[in-house]
Amino acid sequence: MQRQGVTIAHYNGIRVGLDYSWFVIFVLVVYMLATFYFPENYDSVSKAESWMLSLFAAVLFFLSILLHEFAHAIVAQRRNVEISEIVLFIFGGLAKMKKEPEKARDEFAIAGAGPLCSFAIGFLFLGIALLIESSVGEGLHGVFWYVGYINVLLAVFNLVPGFPLDGGRMVRAAIWHYSGNLRKSTRIVSTMGQIFAFLLMFTGLMVIFSGAIITGVFWILIGVFLLLSAKSGYYMVAMREGLSGIPVGKIMTTNPATVHPDITLRNLVNEYFFKSKFSCFPVVRNDELLGFIEINQVKSVEHDQWEMVRVKDIMTPLNDLVIVSPETDAYDVLMKMIDSQTGRMPVMKDEQLIGIVSRKDILQFVEFRETLRT
Ligand SMILES: [Zn+2]
Repeated sequence: MQRQGVTIAHYNGIRVGLDYSWFVIFVLVVYMLATFYFPENYDSVSKAESWMLSLFAAVLFFLSILLHEFAHAIVAQRRNVEISEIVLFIFGGLAKMKKEPEKARDEFAIAGAGPLCSFAIGFLFLGIALLIESSVGEGLHGVFWYVGYINVLLAVFNLVPGFPLDGGRMVRAAIWHYSGNLRKSTRIVSTMGQIFAFLLMFTGLMVIFSGAIITGVFWILIGVFLLLSAKSGYYMVAMREGLSGIPVGKIMTTNPATVHPDITLRNLVNEYFFKSKFSCFPVVRNDELLGFIEINQVKSVEHDQWEMVRVKDIMTPLNDLVIVSPETDAYDVLMKMIDSQTGRMPVMKDEQLIGIVSRKDILQFVEFRETLRT
């Protein structure tokens, strides 16, 4: 998934970023702390102080989420699992792996590092809060207490044994280790993750009825997010298994229909799109691939221009296309498509276009395999 946001640092080849959605949750946390937590629990804290302390507590809270993600990332790198980026977004943090771990032991250690880190931070802050209870102002006690408490909560929440939560990943690794079946173990924890997601949504609904609308809506949204992630987690594993070792040359459409760069858009629409029902064509002159033309590119040109504008004027040129060879692993091609947000790729051999592969082709292949149980 491509995310929009701000890069705040680079560490050891890992991009550390804030998704734009993160700013929403940051403001919300500060607001909740300043208007509810401090006024309810700490009488001696003034209104102005309460906002300052809330800002401080929120920064510490999000720093500890970053540390949680770094714990995952550092253990991953030690085990040669590459991490491309760490991102904070509205529902928490994410240490994005370039590729899922290939060994159950690695997955278990990587997943476990996060909650362990949160427990450590949590108990440390709770301890400090207890120590300074009477020595410094009430306000600071409030900050330490909150950060400690929220980190322990974070650790416990993440240990719920449903995918994609850390606990789910740990349970998956354990079942995977003993059964040797990644797909089956993913299906189990993905189901548990979906049940947990529904529980969260239900809780959110109850919270809304009790009057705390923002909090309730937030729980429901987290539930929806977890539900989708749990489903796609299983789906990705099914894809990986269904496609592993399959060269894309086996799936691609060979001898695809091509269009000439000089034809007009009117011609392209009438003679190619309408007649073939394909929504995309390779643009070829004298056996040389020049680019791709897609129906969406034509859509953005005014109708009265269609007689004048030619395919070569608006096509995606060859340099901007991601090209694969027929030997490329179909799973890698699918990952490339997701990364570059494209639905189709030209397959080339010896600088000749020999086929096209689309996301649909790949998904259909897996579906057929599943139906035929091959
Ligand atoms: Zn985690």
